[in-house]
Amino acid sequence: MSEFKVCTCCKEIKSVSEFWKHKKTKDGLREQCCHCIRDKKRDWHLKNRDKYNEYSKNYKLKNKEKVNLYQRLQTNKITDSYIVNGLGLKNAPQELIEAKRIQILIHRKLKNENTKHKTIA
Ligand SMILES: [Zn+2]
Repeated sequence: MSEFKVCTCCKEIKSVSEFWKHKKTKDGLREQCCHCIRDKKRDWHLKNRDKYNEYSKNYKLKNKEKVNLYQRLQTNKITDSYIVNGLGLKNAPQELIEAKRIQILIHRKLKNENTKHKTIA
């Protein structure tokens, strides 16, 4: 195997260490050097930025409930002190706090679903 290879993109002779591996080519290396591939990827991102933004906007619209729930869980982060107060134990172990946190989150989720059903019915 030779140590050098010509990149089909920039036509430069480069060390094989600058080519990424590829299973389907004869020499087991990509046709383009890693620099050209990186440039292409960057170009693709720049060119498709609008498309990508559009996609994520559509995703949010289509998955409104999922996104909302996620955001609600994020904003409703339950603090340790809130849980400790609720438990009435000043030195509650961390595991108990975590367990209680999950319990509260499930409880809130169920409550939300119940109110949703009520409004539909
Ligand atoms: Zn190249």
